[in-house]
Amino acid sequence: MRMATAKVLVVSLALAGCATTQTTQPGAVDIHRKQTMLVSEASVEHGAQQSYLGELEKAGASGKLNADPALTARIRRITDRLIPVTATFRPDALEWKWEVNTLSTPEVNAYCMPGGKIMVYSGLVDKLQLDDAEIATVLGHEMSHALREHTRERVSKAYEQQVALVGLAVLTGAGPDTIALADQVASVTFELPHDREQESEADVMGLELMARAGYDPHKAISLWKKMMAVEKSEPPQYLSTHPASANRIAELERHLPQVLPLYAAAERKDLPAH
Ligand SMILES: [Zn+2]
Repeated sequence: MRMATAKVLVVSLALAGCATTQTTQPGAVDIHRKQTMLVSEASVEHGAQQSYLGELEKAGASGKLNADPALTARIRRITDRLIPVTATFRPDALEWKWEVNTLSTPEVNAYCMPGGKIMVYSGLVDKLQLDDAEIATVLGHEMSHALREHTRERVSKAYEQQVALVGLAVLTGAGPDTIALADQVASVTFELPHDREQESEADVMGLELMARAGYDPHKAISLWKKMMAVEKSEPPQYLSTHPASANRIAELERHLPQVLPLYAAAERKDLPAH
């Protein structure tokens, strides 16, 4: 079994080493960076499922899972508008098993694990007093990390570094089994900041998602201004992986002209009342 895993890994490393992946279509915001992937999408999604299940169990045991049904309903109404427009970037995302839950805690945080496993912490909405479009900014950003498979890219980079440091021989004894991948998904979700390029991609792709879903993209600017204000008093967990900055806001402003027509078109489409 272990030998078989090792062989598969060697083959997949050899193949992926000279191949790059295009995870998404460019959209109006024109994201076209090619990515190097050394682990399969399926294995990372499986790791994410395990990790998310662990989070749901912990939250359930402490009574914090969906403890505020009105908040959960509100977040699901917003994701119900965002999920259909992900097809702009990758049609297969419509087939994902999206899950949307909330955690009642003062912490300011939210994430979307690979494959569409979303969690919103009530502190994000309460402390920053977010309206629906500002919530859609955070959700669009997090969903874009999943669409672009940034976690898979991070995990691939970690393997690449191991190969460079210790050679392939060591890796053959430690294939990307599910437990290791679940741990790595968790560490990318909760501890490691994405690099600046990934952050910028998630920002602008998220901006297009919210515009297409009928949320005013100007609200992305107000969201990050609120983040900057709260960062000064008590830096929340979300900001340790998502530093709010004038640069981030300036880049969002630069991309507004690309997405404002999409927002106008979405508004005209007589969206169902929420
Ligand atoms: Zn991010």
